[in-house]
Amino acid sequence: MIDKMEAVVYTAPNEMTFFREYQSTQIDRDDDVLLRIESVGICGSDMHAFHGKDPRRNPGLILGHEFCGEIVEGSNKGQKVTGNPLITCGKCEYCLQGRDNLCSDRDMIGMSRLGAFAQYMTIPNQCLVHATNSMNSNHVAMTEPAATVVHAVNLAIENSFKPIKDCNVLVIGAGAIGLLAALLLKSYSVKMTVLETNKARHQCVKEHVGVNPVNPINQSVSEDSYDVVIDCVGSEKTNALSITSVRAGGAVVNVGLLSWSSNIDIRKITLQEIKLIGCYTYSMEDFRSALRSIENGDFGDLSWIEEMPLSETNLAFQSLHNGTMASAKVILKPSF
Ligand SMILES: [Zn+2]
Ligand SMILES: [Zn+2]
Repeated sequence: MIDKMEAVVYTAPNEMTFFREYQSTQIDRDDDVLLRIESVGICGSDMHAFHGKDPRRNPGLILGHEFCGEIVEGSNKGQKVTGNPLITCGKCEYCLQGRDNLCSDRDMIGMSRLGAFAQYMTIPNQCLVHATNSMNSNHVAMTEPAATVVHAVNLAIENSFKPIKDCNVLVIGAGAIGLLAALLLKSYSVKMTVLETNKARHQCVKEHVGVNPVNPINQSVSEDSYDVVIDCVGSEKTNALSITSVRAGGAVVNVGLLSWSSNIDIRKITLQEIKLIGCYTYSMEDFRSALRSIENGDFGDLSWIEEMPLSETNLAFQSLHNGTMASAKVILKPSF
């Protein structure tokens, strides 16, 4: 058992506090295992909580749900794992259909349970996905955002009238989700346009995706042109842009959720039979498939990840907040 550990607690809006000796959580349920966290990513939803804008994530909580760790207590000790942060019931209609992301009785790591911005974390065994022990821990920690992208691209494939490789695709946003989506689409040889307003992120898109990103602030985006639009931002502006840029009969997959309400052009959606598809997280199947894809190199070499010590979490959040962080993904490393 571990008594004290390094941990970062979301203590107040815009404040992440690092504790060197935080009272550690113990295994409290029979099916829980204890993980030693090796890598943990900062997600857009952690940023949202940090800004005090997520009523489900309140001060006092350890955030973090994109992790790689090693099992130190429980079965399969020594195994490198990541885990699906959604803890689902396994019994409801959705779970039985394999649409477990819609489970009507779900918990979430880093939300209703303590998260991974710490040296140790407990998690139910059922959530774990085993990784090859030799895999880079930062890459394994990318499974969760990659699973979101696998789910989104699968929805685009299912709802498009053409094979995805023949589609003209618009990816809105080149944060981690947008960038991973563009990389996965690249592995399918898809013709695409990537939109990103933060100039600091343009070089990364050029280098890793091989396309010149468009800045919608001073460059125009073609209307009625795209077979598929994947909106990884989800602001009122991008919601509107998704609808204007999609062509008749096309599909818009909405992944980002920056604003919780929007005015969308229901007239165009109706008259041009646009499919507007909401996309929430991933199924366990998407999660496993994402880890395999990372291992296969479908997302490239992931060399754009920025690594920082867990003790500098507050600084990492501040620079993400200020837009001075060029990298689309910061991975925190607890010290051992
Ligand atoms: Zn996430
Ligand atoms: Zn369920």
